[in-house]
Amino acid sequence: MTALSEIRHHPKPLTLAAYAAGNLDEARAVVIATHVSLCAACRLAARDYESIGAACLEAVDPVAMNASALDSFWARAGKQERAMAPASAIAANDFALDAAHPLASYLKDGLDAIEWRPVAPGLAQVVIPAEGYRPGVLRLLKVSPGVQIPRHTHGDEELTLILRGSYTDEVGDFARGDLADLDGEVLHAPLAVGDEPCICLIATSAPLRFRTIFGRLVQPFIGL
Ligand SMILES: [Zn+2]
Repeated sequence: MTALSEIRHHPKPLTLAAYAAGNLDEARAVVIATHVSLCAACRLAARDYESIGAACLEAVDPVAMNASALDSFWARAGKQERAMAPASAIAANDFALDAAHPLASYLKDGLDAIEWRPVAPGLAQVVIPAEGYRPGVLRLLKVSPGVQIPRHTHGDEELTLILRGSYTDEVGDFARGDLADLDGEVLHAPLAVGDEPCICLIATSAPLRFRTIFGRLVQPFIGL
């Protein structure tokens, strides 16, 4: 992926700050890291948040440790037979900010090798394992041009990054690199537009709340 110049939709400042502070679950961190890899403005902002966080840490007065703390640390450390292997669920933001392809380790063969699971006419998805240390769901959704997702809100925040194609909804027009940072207040029905399927990377932490009968009927099948 190369940097894009015309990104119009970015994460909310609070979301970006949480990302820089390492407070996002893995699913959301992957989405934000991927957007940041495409968006120079957010890359700068994330670095600023990191600097602020580092400055805050330096300003904190050190607290004296218990005199036996070091002994008890070594007593516990000494019981380990070997160094622990790196955990697969490393703290979410270990995706380096300067990595150009945060998604690469999740999609080793790229977007074109994905085995999509059809969930409705014109709609396919694949769930990407990214449970991390806090629950969240990371998925890719492919929506054919002209297909509209039934109107819904979200049980919690939802991050959607457009990787290919474009869609339009009540919030605006979204194209590659744009990120929709939505909370439970937003009611929308995204419609894929253009000539190619819209492929989105989506992180959710709670099921969608469909407002239409059709949406509720298909929800158990599409797993959104
Ligand atoms: Zn941005």
